[in-house]
Parts: sequence; structure tokens; C-alpha cells
Amino acid sequence: MNPHIVAIFGGAVSGAEASHQLSQRGIRSVVFDQSKLPYGKIEDGLPKWHAKLRDKEEANIDEKLSDPHVTFVPLAKLGKAIDFQDVAQNWGFSALFLATGAWRDRPLGIAGVDDYVGKGLYYQNPFMHWYNHYHEPNYEGQQLELADGALVIGGGLASIDICKALMMETVQAALVLRGIQTNMFDLERGIGKVLETHGLTLADLGLRGCTLVYRRRVKDMPLFPGETDTPEKLAKAEAVREKVLLNAQSKFLFNVLPCHVPVDKIVENGRLAGLVLRETIMEYGKVTEVAGSDKPCHSPLVVSSIGSVPEPLPGVPMKNGIYEVEGGQCCRLKGFENVFAVGNAVTGRGNIKESVEHGKSVSQSIAEGYLTNPDGVVSEQFRQREDEVSAGVTALAERIGHMKPPSDEQRSLIGQRVKSLQDAVGYHGDYRAWADANRPVRLEKLLGLEAHG
Ligand SMILES: Cc1cc2nc3c(=O)[nH]c(=O)nc-3n(C[C@H](O)[C@H](O)[C@H](O)COP(=O)(O)OP(=O)(O)OC[C@H]3O[C@@H](n4cnc5c(N)ncnc54)[C@H](O)[C@@H]3O)c2cc1C
Repeated sequence: MNPHIVAIFGGAVSGAEASHQLSQRGIRSVVFDQSKLPYGKIEDGLPKWHAKLRDKEEANIDEKLSDPHVTFVPLAKLGKAIDFQDVAQNWGFSALFLATGAWRDRPLGIAGVDDYVGKGLYYQNPFMHWYNHYHEPNYEGQQLELADGALVIGGGLASIDICKALMMETVQAALVLRGIQTNMFDLERGIGKVLETHGLTLADLGLRGCTLVYRRRVKDMPLFPGETDTPEKLAKAEAVREKVLLNAQSKFLFNVLPCHVPVDKIVENGRLAGLVLRETIMEYGKVTEVAGSDKPCHSPLVVSSIGSVPEPLPGVPMKNGIYEVEGGQCCRLKGFENVFAVGNAVTGRGNIKESVEHGKSVSQSIAEGYLTNPDGVVSEQFRQREDEVSAGVTALAERIGHMKPPSDEQRSLIGQRVKSLQDAVGYHGDYRAWADANRPVRLEKLLGLEAHG
């Protein structure tokens, strides 16, 4: 029997793939996740209208974590239930993998604006968590209040998702006031279409729609990581970005304000009441702010969607917002011989050359496919992340063979500690039974619909 045991923190796309790669080599792993279910961004970041894709991706994780080489520990947060220094130095694992993803929103960067979180300001991660789960009968999380005319700060696919969600929610609520019942799955096929059926427009509903504020031009939006290294490829990528945004706007009726950055807050009656926006121009590929162009932009709601970085973990060194790694391809945590970061925790892209090459060629070819098959594009992002982790763990597997396996005493201690963490949360070792019992109630089920996607 292989003597090595690896601890993996985070059991989503990256952690599950890492455990799978180890299982295939006969190496056992213990996967700790902070949540009941180890689905990460698939459950809390991928908007719930991608129901079929979500179910498929989660089944993929279930398959990997049900392998007999894998022991799962739910509700075990590194940094809270488990101390990083303690587990790294005292438990005796052959190696530790940090696959904890990126859950901290990048700050909006306006002095004092975070005092208004929940009072006119939301960040993307809590927004999507609420959006995906608030319909659940036993939902006990934060309740968000939406409003028409929101400003969404950002420019990637995730910020378009926020605009879509805001538009669908505000239109649905306005239709209800007119006695018209609709649902997210209908609206997701196109808000314009639904309104047309009822002979209505946004203006008829008294709505102006939300506005996506982006600091560069539309054609610069980071919608795809496709190749842009020749003038022809750049022109093609720019055309695709413009087409994708136009398509989303025509279906979901939101507004776009490119070439503007927020520089200050507007506060009224103890709430954020808008932002001061400054014009920008693009010069030699760089954003330059235009002096004297500031204008107040009143809005009842601001949603900041400018990216996520890993949450700091006590004892884990960080640099530029991500875990500080060295050791090239293997992403070894600085100062630790046997701790490695994988997946979004280290933004794997760029660290593993082969899979970057793979990722780029696929992205280019599927970019235009986004117009007809957005699920395919999102799904490809998960595959890229898996490829990166797979390549990384392949490179590591050899090294693990040379690392110190736990002694008999340490093995027994790991077993006892794992069991006590599992017992404390009522997990009895049957991964599939646990996942089935804790899977959230789905909107499509409440609506009596088959899974959409
Ligand atoms: C809207 C959207 C946009 C996307 N955009 C991109 C993109 O631009 N580029 C890209 O590559 N991919 C993107 N993806 C794909 C996707 O997010 C990632 O590639 C993939 O899901 C990351 O997986 P992960 O396992 O690294 O992280 P996550 O899915 O974030 O999983 C991390 C896991 O770790 C757990 N965890 C966190 N902290 C702790 C802790 N302290 N202790 C224990 N467990 C912990 C969490 O509960 C979670 O299960 C996007 C996905 C969505 C839904």
C-alpha cells in the first residue's frame, strides 16, 4: 500500500481534480472543505440559470470524491477549524494542497466606500451566493435588496452575469406588480422577448435598467482569454467581444458605459447613493483618466464586480493578493517544503505552460461559440482549471514519492483527528449519502420544471 497521505483544502474543481490525480496513483488524500458541499464556485458563483451545467459539474466532483482513496471532511475551514501552521508542521501529512479558490472580492478602491456594504453597495461574491440560494425554503443567509438603475462596476463575464441577474429580478418584480407571473428560466431566454409577449417595454414598467461601467473600451473587455498577438487575431478578438456584449445587451436590456472609472462616493442619508465617475481614454494600451471630467452618477445600488482574490489564511504567505509561491511549475508555497497551491488559489494560468497553450487554442476556437452556447464556454473554463491542476499534480506526484510519509503514530493521529472533525459535524463517511442529503432545493424543482441549462 502506498504510504503517503495528502491533505487537500478545498474540494471543488481544483481540489477534486487533485484528489483524482492522486487516487489514480494509489495515493490517499483527505479533502477538507469549509462548506457542507465541496462545489465552490459551481454552486455559489455559476448563476443558477446554468442548472444543467451545474448538475453535470457537481456530479463530476462527486465521482472524484467518492473514490475509496479519498476521505472527505465537510465544514472544516482551514484557518478556523484547522490551524495552518499546526496541520503543516504537526499532523504528518506527506504534502498539503491549498485548493481554496478565490473568494475575496477585490476592493472597489474608493476611500470609505466599504462602510456602505449592505447600504447601497454589494460585492459580487455575496451577491451571487444570495442570488443562487435565496429561493431555498430554508435559506438563512443575508437578504439582499435590489433596485432598478443600479451601477455595476466591472467588465468580464461575471459582471455581465450580475447585470443579467439584476435585470431579470427587477423586471420579474415589476411584472408581478402588473399581475404577470414569469420566472427566471423564461426571462433568461431574453427579457425583450418576454416583454414583447405582453406588449410591454422597460419604460412601460417604469424601469431604466442597470448600467455596466467599464474602465476601458467595449472591445477591450476581458471576455475571453483568446490570442491577440497579431493585428488580425486582435481585430478578431475585439469583434467577438463587441458582438458578445451587444448580444447580451439586446437580450437583457442593460446599459453600458465604457471608458469610465469610479473615483468617489456619493452618500445621502447614511446610504451610498451613487458614485462620481471619471472619463478615461486608452493610450498605448493603457487607461488614462481625463482630468476635469468627473460627474456625479446617482444610483440606488452599486454592485462591484471587479474580480476575486484568495482569502488570506493566517500563516500562509501572500504576495500581490495571491498565495506566494515559488518552485516554477509546482507552485510550492514560499517557505514550506511540502505545501502547494493549486487552482484559483494561485491563479494557475501562467504557471503551467502546457495547459496554457491548450487553454488558449481552445478559447480562441470557442470564443464565437459563446453567442450560441454560453454553457460551453463556462464549461471550458472548468476544464482549463482541471487541466492546470492535473498537469501540476502530475508534476508533483513524483516528488510526493520522495517526501516523508506519515509514521504509524502520525497516521493514527491523522485518523483520529479526521474522525473527530467528521463526528463534530455529523458526517459519517458516506460521501454520496451526505451530498444527496445536503443538496440545496433547486429553483427548477420549486417551479415544477425539468432542469434547464
Ligand atoms: C461566473 C464565473 C466566472 C468564471 N471566470 C473564470 C475565469 O475568468 N477564469 C477561470 O480560469 N475560471 C473561471 N471560472 C471557472 C471557475 O471559477 C474556476 O476555474 C474554478 O471553479 C475554480 O475552482 P477552484 O476549485 O480552484 O476554486 P473554487 O471553486 O473557488 O473552490 C474552492 C473550494 O475551497 C473551499 N474553501 C475555501 N476556503 C477554504 C478554507 N479556508 N478551508 C477549507 N475549504 C475552503 C470552498 O468552499 C470551495 O469548495 C468562472 C466561473 C464562474 C462561475
